[in-house]
Amino acid sequence: MGGRESVLAVSLVKLIAGKPSIIDSLPNGATVNCQLCEQTYRLGYSDSEWNRIKDWLGIAERAVRADHKYKHEVLALGLAWRQSRKH
Ligand SMILES: [Zn+2]
Repeated sequence: MGGRESVLAVSLVKLIAGKPSIIDSLPNGATVNCQLCEQTYRLGYSDSEWNRIKDWLGIAERAVRADHKYKHEVLALGLAWRQSRKH
């Protein structure tokens, strides 16, 4: 889509046999485990996001947990940044 940079800063991709089911161009990655089963995901993130990766990990864990009830059928989950944080 044109020359504008529209690359997502983070992605959450299901791991199949330990490998990402979708290859993205994000240089960094962390593994996120479903807390309810053994499904794992790769949280990919760009260098600009490293300083808030802890927050992204929390968001990713919630997204994975929410997807569990759908049996982890989709290959990639969407992540939405949340400004407000509560304890
Ligand atoms: Zn699960």
